[in-house]
Amino acid sequence: MRILIVEDEIKTASYLSKGLTESGFVVDVAHKGDDGLHLALTSDYDLIVLDVSLPERSGWSIISELRRQGKETPALFLTARDAVEDRIRGLELGADDYLVKPFVFSELLVRIRTILRRGPMRQPEVIEIDDLRIDLLRHKASRGGERLDLTPKEFALLSLLARRQGEVLSRSLIADQVWDMNFDSDTNVVDVAVRRLRTKVDDPFPKKLIHTIRGVGYVLEAR
Ligand code: CA
Repeated sequence: MRILIVEDEIKTASYLSKGLTESGFVVDVAHKGDDGLHLALTSDYDLIVLDVSLPERSGWSIISELRRQGKETPALFLTARDAVEDRIRGLELGADDYLVKPFVFSELLVRIRTILRRGPMRQPEVIEIDDLRIDLLRHKASRGGERLDLTPKEFALLSLLARRQGEVLSRSLIADQVWDMNFDSDTNVVDVAVRRLRTKVDDPFPKKLIHTIRGVGYVLEAR
């Protein structure tokens, strides 16, 4: 598996490169945006890890140029803390995931392996899990053909769980992605929201889709 790292902070780049090499990946590094784009266009990588803020050309610009030229290499970008617009913009431009700096290497490795396992993520318009149907474009959800009346936050929570079905999501990850709350914030809000979501999505139906993994978080899957 080949990974391209585009990161202008020399220390971070070599730390990532060393860690990924030790984890069995073949790694190339670019420190500038133009070099990164050139490598990404002319070589075949399984994944690109790229910083948003780079000399010559931003990480966003690299992703959008790659996608414009039909290159679907999965991309995970590294962004500064608390930059919600950055994350949304990156995902809209075709990034597959993001990680907020500073992060621990093991978290990066988990994200990389997840992306590589599922392959390039082309956002589906509709997700179907058992008799649950989520229309991501129209923001509608139904079970067994019956419309679920969800608030925007409930819909966001359900979509997150459904997009990553079968994956156990921690409370802090859910809090971060749905509420943009920090790690140490009160994650009780997640438990309350999941409970409310269950009253609509699971309680009226014999087959339960949202499962609690004690001490870890939640997973949505048809068992
Ligand atoms: Ca940078």
